[in-house]
Amino acid sequence: MTINTTELNNKATTTTTTDVLIIGAGIAGLAAGNALQQAGLSVQLVDKGRGVGGRLSTRRFANGAWFDHGAQYFTANTPAFETVLRDWEAEGVVHSWFEQLTWFEGDTVTQEPPQNPPRKRYIPTGNGMNSLPKHLAKNLTIQTSTRIVRLNSINNQWEAMDEQGNFFNAKALIITSPVPQTLELLHNSHISLTHQQTSQLNSVMYEPCLALMVALNPETIAQDLLPSLAVGYKARDPEHALGWVGANHTKAAEASSFSTLAFTLHASPNFSRSYWDENLETILPLLLDALPTPLKTVMTHQSIETTQLHRWKYALSSQSLEAMPTVCLQSLPPCFLAGDAFGDYAKIETAYLSGIASSQALLQQFTSNT
Ligand SMILES: Cc1cc2nc3c(=O)[nH]c(=O)nc-3n(C[C@H](O)[C@H](O)[C@H](O)COP(=O)(O)OP(=O)(O)OC[C@H]3O[C@@H](n4cnc5c(N)ncnc54)[C@H](O)[C@@H]3O)c2cc1C
Repeated sequence: MTINTTELNNKATTTTTTDVLIIGAGIAGLAAGNALQQAGLSVQLVDKGRGVGGRLSTRRFANGAWFDHGAQYFTANTPAFETVLRDWEAEGVVHSWFEQLTWFEGDTVTQEPPQNPPRKRYIPTGNGMNSLPKHLAKNLTIQTSTRIVRLNSINNQWEAMDEQGNFFNAKALIITSPVPQTLELLHNSHISLTHQQTSQLNSVMYEPCLALMVALNPETIAQDLLPSLAVGYKARDPEHALGWVGANHTKAAEASSFSTLAFTLHASPNFSRSYWDENLETILPLLLDALPTPLKTVMTHQSIETTQLHRWKYALSSQSLEAMPTVCLQSLPPCFLAGDAFGDYAKIETAYLSGIASSQALLQQFTSNT
């Protein structure tokens, strides 16, 4: 329920009241939101981004090409997420992109040995990774371009304020931002944690990632080269400048929807740290030089049509809270932390399962309080 309430600096502000407020409409927030709504609670999600999905992000270029510049694909390492994926596959929401990784090291390119059962790498059916969060957001109430800057606990309820001075009141809160951002929000709100929780949350670490999107003009490329290229290349050496190169045009249901070839290049964490503040002109030649051999002949200054760079400050969690799918803040109205840092694999799977775990823990607390 949203009511126009106060006048702040002569600007009308609103107060929205629901059972649960979820900060962040990435995969963790969306999973939690759907589970809580299905359990009969009223749920409001807010996200500071222009759209939903967080790190499942797809960028469109003016020429029609699209690029997954965050997460590239997803896998299942647990029976719980295997079940989720099987259901999504049966509904046609996701499908397998490839099964064996192509590794590169120096000039050598090798194929990951086949596994039994095959290790499927899934992508959403639709135009890019962002199609999955869009699908999960369909029945939820979400306000985007809304950054929560302050939290208050009043009369055993939460009051969250956004940058514009609008309020979101709720009986319970789930926070799914990357942990350093969550800690900053709690600190700015003068919310103190137990000593143990402070040290647990401070131990979480993320690696940065420079993501370079490169559109190539196919007319400048020898067509007989293209079928020999893999859909993606993963570096064997973590110290290599490039960590991953993915061919977005191979993800499209209809390859003809791309008039260009669209590659995403992910720099390794070390390279990303070292070149974080450098501009595209400095970074581009270094990453082109680090390409696996088969791509070096294809991606050249002659074939490149357009490039864009995105900086992910918190890309993948390198130090996560294993075996802690959610964390409940003590001595406050119900507040759970969730996201990809809460679990074993620091991936989409972890974020999804953490969102579900936070919703289950919250429902349990609601039930035991009534
Ligand atoms: C470059 C890159 C490559 C990756 N590759 C893969 C891969 O191939 N496979 C895989 O499984 N995973 C991959 N990942 C990791 C995967 O994307 C994440 O694990 C997952 O998307 C995390 O989801 P989340 O919901 O926990 O967090 P997020 O997606 O980060 O969502 C958190 C949301 O909170 C919002 N937010 C933050 N603060 C506030 C605030 N104060 N107010 C309102 N909103 C706020 C943010 O805008 C964001 O949308 C990759 C990530 C990156 C960046």
